[in-house]
Amino acid sequence: MIYTVTLNTAIDKIIKINGVLTRKMNNKISDVSFDIGGKATHVSVVLSKLNINNIATGFVGAENALTLTSLLKNKGVTCDFILQENCSTRESLVILDDSGYGSFMITEPGFKILEESQCKLIEKLSNQVTKNDYVVFAGSPPRGFNVDQYINIVKTVTDKGGKLIIDASGDYLREAIKLKPYLIKPNEFEFQELVGKPLNTIDEFIPEMKKLLNDGIEFVVVSLGKKGSLVGTKRSFYRVIPPVIKEINDTGCGDVFVGGLVASLYKQTSIEDMLEFSTALSASKASQNESSSFCLEQTKQLEAEVKIEKLEAYSI
Ligand code: ATP
Ligand code: MG
Ligand code: MG
Repeated sequence: MIYTVTLNTAIDKIIKINGVLTRKMNNKISDVSFDIGGKATHVSVVLSKLNINNIATGFVGAENALTLTSLLKNKGVTCDFILQENCSTRESLVILDDSGYGSFMITEPGFKILEESQCKLIEKLSNQVTKNDYVVFAGSPPRGFNVDQYINIVKTVTDKGGKLIIDASGDYLREAIKLKPYLIKPNEFEFQELVGKPLNTIDEFIPEMKKLLNDGIEFVVVSLGKKGSLVGTKRSFYRVIPPVIKEINDTGCGDVFVGGLVASLYKQTSIEDMLEFSTALSASKASQNESSSFCLEQTKQLEAEVKIEKLEAYSI
């Protein structure tokens, strides 16, 4: 089984305004829609679209839980969240106008997770995760959630022999690395923060990736936005260059990229096929408006344009 864990779930409320958003004016709304907010929930959306069984868990506020779980169910995702009473899952406002300069995003911090809820999630993972299940933690926890609390939950997976996949940043990523995750996917900024210095060239990135692989991580994937990614395993390093697309919205590319990686790991494809598919899939996402949308037809066409270079100088 594959589990995805979102600790700070969100519902995107997409507000369309005619004309340009202007201060001191009545900006009239022409359309309102709702979408699934990231992060690991988007990984679930990718997996379900590919007909791969998975369970989305994490915390949701009971007051509007149905809004989120209905959106997920409509995309074929099985939900098994911890419900916290008298709380609402945060809504992220996405305001679209006709300025042509992209959207505004206004986010809430998310409700405080009670200790009781944390225990329930630990119990759920402890009861359900079995050896070699994939468990994806994507996104940071909400405010007031310290690193020890985060690690307590994440550790449940490695204790049960599950394969841990971490897409997080800052201290959460730093501490989770000590649990030897199966795969980590920081973006270039998160990776530089982790190593504590700026990295400019491949020659500077690779030794830092090597250290993590030597510490016991199987896959170190550093995503570089439209520049693609650098990928390291114990034996080989790859540089992946994505196809050129007309970028509409790159928010959520990381989640979709991780979704592609997990799907490929689950299907046990070759590493080249895994990188080709995930890169094409996330490029397709970048060419779409909504933060969890992608097109499998387009992905197929884009796959032929992905360039994968094995960095022989670094491979064993
Ligand atoms: P997120 O906003 O979801 O957290 P991220 O910053 O973690 O994203 P990125 O490095 O921005 O992740 O993107 C992940 C992958 O998506 C990249 O490695 C790349 O393959 C693909 N991608 C992102 N932007 C583009 C683009 N403009 N064109 C083609 N591919 C892209
Ligand atoms: Mg990015
Ligand atoms: Mg990211």
